Amino acid sequence: MSLTRKQISILMQLVAETSPDKLDCTDCLDHLAEFAETHLAGRPLCDALSEVQTHMQNCPCCEHEFQSFLEALKGIADDTP
Ligand SMILES: [Zn+2]
Repeated sequence: MSLTRKQISILMQLVAETSPDKLDCTDCLDHLAEFAETHLAGRPLCDALSEVQTHMQNCPCCEHEFQSFLEALKGIADDTP
């Protein structure tokens, strides 16, 4: 199945209306690795990463992804001699 241009524009409008000026989950997950590294390194968050943090405070799904990612990163770090 493929969407028509009209259907796509309706969908885009819906997305824009439900999440004004906020990240969606895809954007959040795109930045997850960078956010986790910055978090672990204790570096200050840039604007984009602050938005990731805000999104995760409101989105248990992405928060869960982040925790899993963090565990994976720590696991890798533990294995390094
Ligand atoms: Zn999310």
